[in-house]
Amino acid sequence: MISVQAKSIHITGVVQGVGFRPFVHNLAQRCGLSGWVLNTSAGVDIHVEGQPAQLAAFLDALCAEAPPLAHIDRLESADCAVEGYVDFQIRTSTAIPGAFQPISPDVAICPDCQRELRDPADRRHRYPFINCTHCGPRFTIITDIPYDRPLTTMARFSMCPACASEYHDPADRRFHAQPIACPECGPHIWLETAEGQVVGDAALERTVDLLRRGQIVAIKGLGGFHLACDATDADAVARLRARKGRAAKPFALMMPSLDVVRQHCVVTDAEARLLESSASPIVLLSRRADSQIIASDVAPGQNTLGVMLPYTPLHILLFDAGLPPLVMTSANHSEEPIVTDNDEARRLLADLADAFLMHDRDIYIRTDDSVVRIFEDQELPIRRSRGYAPYPVHLPAALPPILSVGGEIKNTFCVTRDTYAFMSHHIGDLENYATLRSFEAGIAHFERLFRIAPVVIAHDLHPAYRSTRYAERRSEADGIPRVGVQHHHAHIAAVLAEHGHPGDRPVIGVCFDGTGYGTDGTIWGGEFLIANYETFERAAWLRPVPLPGGDAAARRTARMALSYLIAAGLDADVPDALRTALEPTEERTVRIQIARGLNAPLTSSMGRLFDAVAALIGICAVNTYEGQAAIELEAQVDPAVDGQYMFDCEHPQIDCSPVIHAVLADVRRGCIASAIAARFHRAVAAMIDRVCDRLAREHHIREIALSGGVFQNVTLLKMTLALLEKRDYVVYLHRLVPPNDGGLALGQAVVAAALTQSIRREG
Ligand code: ZN
Ligand code: ZN
Ligand code: FE
Repeated sequence: MISVQAKSIHITGVVQGVGFRPFVHNLAQRCGLSGWVLNTSAGVDIHVEGQPAQLAAFLDALCAEAPPLAHIDRLESADCAVEGYVDFQIRTSTAIPGAFQPISPDVAICPDCQRELRDPADRRHRYPFINCTHCGPRFTIITDIPYDRPLTTMARFSMCPACASEYHDPADRRFHAQPIACPECGPHIWLETAEGQVVGDAALERTVDLLRRGQIVAIKGLGGFHLACDATDADAVARLRARKGRAAKPFALMMPSLDVVRQHCVVTDAEARLLESSASPIVLLSRRADSQIIASDVAPGQNTLGVMLPYTPLHILLFDAGLPPLVMTSANHSEEPIVTDNDEARRLLADLADAFLMHDRDIYIRTDDSVVRIFEDQELPIRRSRGYAPYPVHLPAALPPILSVGGEIKNTFCVTRDTYAFMSHHIGDLENYATLRSFEAGIAHFERLFRIAPVVIAHDLHPAYRSTRYAERRSEADGIPRVGVQHHHAHIAAVLAEHGHPGDRPVIGVCFDGTGYGTDGTIWGGEFLIANYETFERAAWLRPVPLPGGDAAARRTARMALSYLIAAGLDADVPDALRTALEPTEERTVRIQIARGLNAPLTSSMGRLFDAVAALIGICAVNTYEGQAAIELEAQVDPAVDGQYMFDCEHPQIDCSPVIHAVLADVRRGCIASAIAARFHRAVAAMIDRVCDRLAREHHIREIALSGGVFQNVTLLKMTLALLEKRDYVVYLHRLVPPNDGGLALGQAVVAAALTQSIRREG
């Protein structure tokens, strides 16, 4: 007879809040093993006893059959003493001081829960908070680790006997589902209007009725409130724009089903999978030319629509009542954080919403909807938040604990521990005071949640970024050394880090964005860097031109156009489009600013060159949101038109004058915008190709990394890759974090780690 043996197993990764313990319990029973499993704040510990063959089968299945949302990073197993257990139990969680644990993001409602939601015989029929071990809220309701009900915002709802028995039954699909709830014991919804309050199904019916009549309803969701209105009602959409004071920035849509999405957008297989994924982000899709019913004001000047599918039971109940596609935009005043709290909603959204669909499950951490594009069948993140954060990016090597604070706009921050980089949810633009507070509170939450005490703080070189100022204050107060990281160096390091690049050898980093502080105090943004993690050399860049009026020039694109005309010696005869956009007094001011160098800092920004070209052809006079002119210029491109412009790029300083010349000549010839836009995009792609070719030869490098906000432009990306692929380089693109400043913090962290290590080596 073979004797009984015992194994002690320790697992780390995303293994809490994803149905891992019930899975282990059922697996142990299937294998005829006894022992126990428990969540610790460091992962999951298992003790199993049984015959050697069964123990081996158990170990094999542990990885092979793990629940869909689990992600095992490490599994350690060792022989240990037999303790003579007679059954297999799930033990109460223990907290190990200092230990930590990745946490699952929020998960869209699963098919099983959708079925029960619509089943009249089910006790959770039409219950807006139905969830299970495979779906529902996670990150947004967790106040601390280990992930157990008392440490979530569900703590104040005590389970009814029916829920409790499901929760404790290993055979049930809600076994240890922490947010478990039902109409008897869980959260409820209600609708508040000027006339009073209605609850339950009546609240849903009334909400649907209000939306159908063109009203704007604030709807509390998973990570915050949305402002919703009928996307097919032009008046309602216009009213929402007017109330939010949002001129042109596109609104996200929620559509009832994939079939409906296909009526309005072209949807590839990869896009369909992403729409229906458990992350359920907003997916940027090409709009169909024959789709007429969505109000044009939803996304003016664009050929894409940002669309998501219903991802909570509440959304599904609303659409099941027969709603058309809805605008679902974050409920906030522009640039303030998304509203999460009921009282806050009543106070802050009173002038935005006609009614409030509320519930009493608290949101502990706000998360906006994520925005993702599909490029060549893979994800290209634009905003990484709900459904993704705080899932870690895996680093090529273990790092000391580092806090990196990101940039100023589209801020995210990052904390590192071992080989994990925990990138935060989308914080927003720190210029706003409430957003800055949300940034500080977010950092405190992440440090507590992941048990991280940073030994280094990394920040941007820009002295006026509020994130930089936070880093200075924090460094001073807590005696933690800080490291400034150049903006574009951080962008390039970010794309390398997410690909697990060791960062020990130089690559050619092509970093194009709107603005970033250079080591010479000028504003960079059209950069070719020879970079590894530790250091970089600025190898080529757009010849700097004045930014007349500073921020005013980033907003008013015509100022940049005039600046480029002057730089090219072409300003004697300004084209009509520019005349219209530029007041005579503004033109005079700009000319004086440039001639005397008054409030006209120099910039090599590629974003500003896109602005200038857009203004020259008269398509976008004012950037009402970041990147607007560039996005509208991309939307113009007609790939069927031939021809391209040429940069002079034989020298480190790339001269844009030949391009400006050619654009102007085409404008005078009466050439249409779509042709000029196409030729300009091809010119930029060809310039990237030629400069990379030269640098690759000079430096013997075969690896190219593309980063910076300009590379959200998939038209440019496609043209660029087509050229680079012919030369057989290894090309790194963003797939996990955004190419815009939302990805900056990841790069800051790895650069700071490399610098710290080299200081230690030399010291
Ligand atoms: Zn479920
Ligand atoms: Zn219950
Ligand atoms: Fe940037």
